[in-house]
Amino acid sequence: RSTLFPYTTLFRSIARIMELTHPDDDMIVDGTKGLVIIDPDQETSQTYERAIKEGALAKNPPVQIDRQPTVTANGIEVAVMANAWSQEDVAHAIRNGADGIGLFRTEPFFMASKHLPTPQEFTEFLARCLEPVGTLRVNVRLLDVGADKNPIYLPLPPEPDPFMGLRGVRVLLRYPDLLEAQLRALLESSRRFNLGILIPMVTLDSDVVQVVDTCRKLAATMGVHKIPQIGAMIETPAAALTIRSLVEHVDFFSIGSNDLTQYTLAAGRENASVTDYFIDDHPAVLRLMEIAIKDAGSTPVSLCGELAGKTKAIPELLRIGLRSLSVASSLLAEVRQTIRGSR
Ligand code: PEP
Ligand code: MG
Repeated sequence: RSTLFPYTTLFRSIARIMELTHPDDDMIVDGTKGLVIIDPDQETSQTYERAIKEGALAKNPPVQIDRQPTVTANGIEVAVMANAWSQEDVAHAIRNGADGIGLFRTEPFFMASKHLPTPQEFTEFLARCLEPVGTLRVNVRLLDVGADKNPIYLPLPPEPDPFMGLRGVRVLLRYPDLLEAQLRALLESSRRFNLGILIPMVTLDSDVVQVVDTCRKLAATMGVHKIPQIGAMIETPAAALTIRSLVEHVDFFSIGSNDLTQYTLAAGRENASVTDYFIDDHPAVLRLMEIAIKDAGSTPVSLCGELAGKTKAIPELLRIGLRSLSVASSLLAEVRQTIRGSR
């Protein structure tokens, strides 16, 4: 029995892996491909043993960079960007021909700090991470904490239903210092990088209006004349269904199908008891996405949730109108190949 198991949706996958395994099973975790192989057969084990000995996995040899545009069999061009959160991730994405960084997650950096990082610390972190991107676009997401993630320097109140509570932009608006520190760093970094700013967990128009206002005011005080594009994450059914009014306030959208799925199917993404209900290509999720893409009109919409990396869903994602995907960098080659074979 040999099972290949992409672990990109980490918590769901761990629950599934626990179901599939017995305490004595062997397991290979291939971090270079994002694979867990349960109970590998002899040939697979030997291949990995050889690769480990030869150091091939550790060195992660650069694949030949594919700089050709990603175009479907019927001539539609699709941007394929990467999700990242670290210096290594960004370097790997660029080495593998990403069209940009569609989602740069900032939670690991903020969660690792014992104090609220200063604008200078955040700016320096971004400069280190983004060095390889050149002029490519990078969408940095404002900190998405609350629910399961509580940095020790934030006095977040305990809540009975954390995923339905103070999360994402709601936390940022509750703690203006936290929002301002990030916006200062992003505005400073925008002098050097081609940045977009993503607002997480948007529900109401007022969520984005307040962030955009704060950003404009800070830019004026800092003498930043060209404000980065500001985008809203579409992760709640409310945001998907009211995108016609959100377009008035932002420059682009990025659909977070992981959260959109949990809020549409009422199935917590980290709740192993309802794994069977967490279906990110469920018709209800796809329908919401299709409505959002249509209602966004000419405002660009990308998809950065795990669904974007599921090759079997790609024809349907193209059919509902997506022309930009952002996936784990380990999936870039496979996703581009699938798009090229789709129509
Ligand atoms: C999502 O919800 O799909 C998303 C991209 O954000 P995260 O997985 O970081 O919540
Ligand atoms: Mg999300």
